[in-house]
Amino acid sequence: MNYIPSKFRNNAVKALLNVNLRKNLTRAISHTLSKRVEVVSELPDWENLRQKAHEIKKHTIENLAYYLDLFEERATKNGVKIFRAKDSIEAKNYVLQIARKINARLCVKSKSMVTEEIGLREFLEENGIETVETDLGEFIVQLAGEMPSHITAPAMHKSRDEIGKLFSEKLGVKFTNEPEKLTNIAREFLRHKFLNADLGISGANFLIAETGSIVIVENEGNAGLSTTIPKVHIAITGIEKVIPRLSDLTVFFKILGRSATAQRFTSYVSIINSPKKNKPDSPEEIYVILLDNGRTNLLKSERLKQALYCIKCGACMLTCPVYQRVGGHTYGSIYPGPIGSVLTPAQLGLRDALLLPFASSLCGKCFEICPVKIEIHHLLLQLRAQAVDLGFASWLEKLIFKLWFIVMRNYKLYTSASKFLRYLLKLGIKPKVKSWSKERIFPELAPKSFKEIWRNQKT
Ligand code: SF4
Repeated sequence: MNYIPSKFRNNAVKALLNVNLRKNLTRAISHTLSKRVEVVSELPDWENLRQKAHEIKKHTIENLAYYLDLFEERATKNGVKIFRAKDSIEAKNYVLQIARKINARLCVKSKSMVTEEIGLREFLEENGIETVETDLGEFIVQLAGEMPSHITAPAMHKSRDEIGKLFSEKLGVKFTNEPEKLTNIAREFLRHKFLNADLGISGANFLIAETGSIVIVENEGNAGLSTTIPKVHIAITGIEKVIPRLSDLTVFFKILGRSATAQRFTSYVSIINSPKKNKPDSPEEIYVILLDNGRTNLLKSERLKQALYCIKCGACMLTCPVYQRVGGHTYGSIYPGPIGSVLTPAQLGLRDALLLPFASSLCGKCFEICPVKIEIHHLLLQLRAQAVDLGFASWLEKLIFKLWFIVMRNYKLYTSASKFLRYLLKLGIKPKVKSWSKERIFPELAPKSFKEIWRNQKT
């Protein structure tokens, strides 16, 4: 599999032929989606919650500079050091600078898509710092040398058998495919790493502007260990994660767990305020890196800025008919699926991710499931229009659509064109469109049009 967005088409063909992958995806996705329906239906005010979450995010993104400044001011007062990184290079170099300052040899990392986005683990390892993923799914994909295939369930593309084989090969343990035993193997391996780590790195689910707090939700306890055992903790997060008030969490906590993992509530919540020197369960130094990396490009567009409301629950991926069939790796981007097809062009530039906005049926299921009501299908349409301006469509395609546009707006032309098409089909002449016709059968037209049937019925 090629981890490049421009390889989407080739990757999709390979993924569709991979029977195991299809089985693993179907099993994992259908289980989570059906559980999600159950836990969402318990909340009669679900639609209100979505609306509230949308409004909080909208307000914050409209006033992003103000809330980031407020967060920085309050967090600095708490003793947390803030660094604003324009791009991945600045963020990585800052982490390395801290790691060198404390002479770090071993770093434990809890799950963070932003660190995947900037390639932090690989960078630290190139610089001689052993870096271990401590989230079970991330640990599996690190051992496999792969990218996460989903933002909240990184190893959802793998079966228990495949994970068992991987552990046996890479960790030298006896093969087992029992989830409990596999978890214990990972736990044993990671415990030693936690206890010896010099540096802990995490992401953040939310940053609270009024208190300067970092909020992390998780299910395994690994984020809690990564952010308390090492002497130094660095949280790296996108600038869009800030929200105004602590009380806003009452809305987000209700929607996040249900949307991400179909849980009423995630198992652990850490609200980190300040480093506490000389206490055994707290780091001595805390740093927060606020990463832009293309996010402010989205602010320039009234419509596309909605993508910054995303709370990275991953639900839009699970419900997307394209993602369901091809899985996350096919997109070749850190953020796959519908929202990834909006975020990736903002980060890499649309030219380098030209195919992604087209990797959608535009059915709108992503909007219906999104807990913050992002109109993802409209954002994809806007990006498609921009892609066409960049020369994505051939002259022939453009001509066909221009003719289509003229015909559809003129009643007489439309009637004559459909009669002509019907006549061609009667003669057995079917239109052939190169790659389109390869995998599709041209639909049979009904012998009579609806209008003809209607007219006959009236007489
Ligand atoms: S776009 Fe919505 S559904 Fe998709 S990951 Fe973001 S918050 Fe979740």
